Amino acid sequence: MESAVSDGKAWIAELRSYVGRRYGVIHAWDAVNASMIRQWCEAMDFDFAPFAADTAADSVHGGMVAPATMLPVWLMPGLRNTRPPGSDLTNPREVMTVLEREGYIGILGTNCEQEYERYLRPGDKISTTHMVEAISDEKQTKFGPGFFITFLQEFFDQHNAPVGRMRLRILRFKPQPKVEQKPLRPSPPQPALSQDTAFFWEGLQAGKLLIQRCAACHTLRHPPGPACTSCHSLEWDTVQASGRGKLFSFVVMHHPQHPAFDYPHPVGLIELEEGVRLVAPLAGTDPDVLEIGMAMEVVIEAVEGEHRLPNFRPVKKG
Ligand code: ZN
Repeated sequence: MESAVSDGKAWIAELRSYVGRRYGVIHAWDAVNASMIRQWCEAMDFDFAPFAADTAADSVHGGMVAPATMLPVWLMPGLRNTRPPGSDLTNPREVMTVLEREGYIGILGTNCEQEYERYLRPGDKISTTHMVEAISDEKQTKFGPGFFITFLQEFFDQHNAPVGRMRLRILRFKPQPKVEQKPLRPSPPQPALSQDTAFFWEGLQAGKLLIQRCAACHTLRHPPGPACTSCHSLEWDTVQASGRGKLFSFVVMHHPQHPAFDYPHPVGLIELEEGVRLVAPLAGTDPDVLEIGMAMEVVIEAVEGEHRLPNFRPVKKG
């Protein structure tokens, strides 16, 4: 599978000159701290309890520590890609620009290894250095010809003692012409049907947006539930909503992405004119035009044939 097809090309020497290149120190914006540990655990769906300040005191660590895999998190530049004063601002991935220039525009992370010297504790102030550890010969891969680049990132504490390192291996390749392929799109997650919610989804199948109503006191409720919160009656029926309402609130989903949906994916909390609120997709609407309080109407759309979703759109003016 391997072939050294690039021997003799002048730019290869330029590429090779990056091997062993070291970049200067980059400092962390913040010391290791409890709130980032907790938020990272939440985002990664990690059990936070072993790392919490109150329970960790009884653990083998004798106090709070950061999960080891958080190591690179402390050195992230943030959304604005800025670094604290005193940091080396040279792009440690500049070797990539050489490959891009030569047409190796495909990129694929192949593996990432982390090693840890010790657990980090709140108050530790971490810094990092980067180097280009290795560049392979040009390889023929199933994606096209390319180079494997190994970046080494080393981490140090406030005493300049090493606390860990990370090796990231990336394939930069020349993409091959695409074979025509029918795009396969997975179905969105199916709604969980229960005795309480089946009417809602069945109503949508019939093109109706149904709201549960207490049969005793006629209070409307959504999401559906077994008992009336006003009078505790278990008897209920439904009414068909007009499908009109107002945008009470919304979020724009960027991550994590599900391949069945287009992103950015706006999701709204709609206050129906009947008075109840409903979480619903706002697919097909540019998030920039959304405004709290704007008039919305439902379009009951079939998704992948199977089930239907109540998608809301702004009511066209005029
Ligand atoms: Zn009731």
